Amino acid sequence: MLDIKTIRKDFPILSRQVNGKPLVYFDNAATSQTPQHVIDVIVDYYSSYNANIHRGVHSLSQEATDKYEAARHTIQKHFNAKHSHEIILTSGTTHSINLVANGFSALLNKGDEIIVSALEHHSNIVPWQMLCEKTEAVLKVIPMNQDGELVMAEFEKLLSKNTKLVFVNHISNALGTINPIADIITKAHAFGAAVLIDGAQACPHIRPNVQELDVDFYVTSAHKMCGPTGVGMLYGKEAWLNKLPPYQGGGEMIADVTFEKTTYADLPHKFEAGTPNICGGIAFGAAIDYMNSIGFDQIAAYENELLNYGTEQLLSIEGLKIYGTATHKTSVISFNLNGIHPYDVGTILDKMGVAVRTGHHCTQPIMDFYNIPGTVRASFAFYNTKSEIDALVNGVRKAQMMLS
Ligand SMILES: *Cc1c(COP(=O)(O)O)cnc(C)c1O
Repeated sequence: MLDIKTIRKDFPILSRQVNGKPLVYFDNAATSQTPQHVIDVIVDYYSSYNANIHRGVHSLSQEATDKYEAARHTIQKHFNAKHSHEIILTSGTTHSINLVANGFSALLNKGDEIIVSALEHHSNIVPWQMLCEKTEAVLKVIPMNQDGELVMAEFEKLLSKNTKLVFVNHISNALGTINPIADIITKAHAFGAAVLIDGAQACPHIRPNVQELDVDFYVTSAHKMCGPTGVGMLYGKEAWLNKLPPYQGGGEMIADVTFEKTTYADLPHKFEAGTPNICGGIAFGAAIDYMNSIGFDQIAAYENELLNYGTEQLLSIEGLKIYGTATHKTSVISFNLNGIHPYDVGTILDKMGVAVRTGHHCTQPIMDFYNIPGTVRASFAFYNTKSEIDALVNGVRKAQMMLS
């Protein structure tokens, strides 16, 4: 069992007040809070060894390089990648997806097909649309059902020898659905298609094993798993990363430059042009260490308890509807009150210190499917408590009284 009281002490922000009330932070699916351990690593970097990496002979630069590369190893081990050079440090999920989409524009031909899912975040839709415009490849969509689950029988019908790529999120940020990615990967591979999994929403809750999944690309952001913003990763199988052309040109990514020809650096540097987010990368490693010190099995079990409790309590409110009722889901509850705009509910909750997300959550196609403008989304992390859920439920009841 997790000692939540002690864990909460690791997060200084959780003891602050908002609008005169104790903060209840339920916007974890947008970004997670940062433990003191990670804050200390950030302060330590800027206070004691801030320097550019990979190019200095001086001690500070060496120290920064060592810590940055150690973080890459931590990330490699966490995701069980075969090689550390298969871990590309990026500015986050969006950057990682764009890097792969851009690379594939050199590999696709007219008539090739790309499959995405109806549950995607805009960052996993728009880059592929741009890619299809450039290459005249065709975008196909795996439909979803009323529970917010992908219709796997339809996925199987979409697959063909023309399918070159399949892009699906591991967990939906709007609904919390855990997608059957192992099955999707196996089926896509049977047609020779590559698979990219958007793990931004999964990594705060579970520990993916990229070799066991046999996934071709897996991407995530540090800031959803207790790390800082502006840093994330692209895992790619070595063979794929060697096949893709570089994304950006600049320093760090070259082997030799003349005006006639430039040859590119080896992995991972080929994809890491320019000075990276050095401090962010080191803090990303620290965030992974912190989460592992708590334990992903314990996190999953406790968050499931919060999900069940929150679902039960919210459903006791008359006129409240939950969107996303998949059998396999994480601690995200998207809901609306009958006849009340989600924005108004969110505003009243904020007055009571409760932070939730309202709107389309960068997933307009899901909102269109349910024919709603948006939802109120409460997303729980391992440092949340049942009494915070009680505060949410009280707030929602109050909002309903005030607004109807
Ligand atoms: C947050 C999120 C993204 C975007 O992540 P950034 O850090 O903003 O690049 C993409 N996909 C999903 C599922 C997300 O939850």
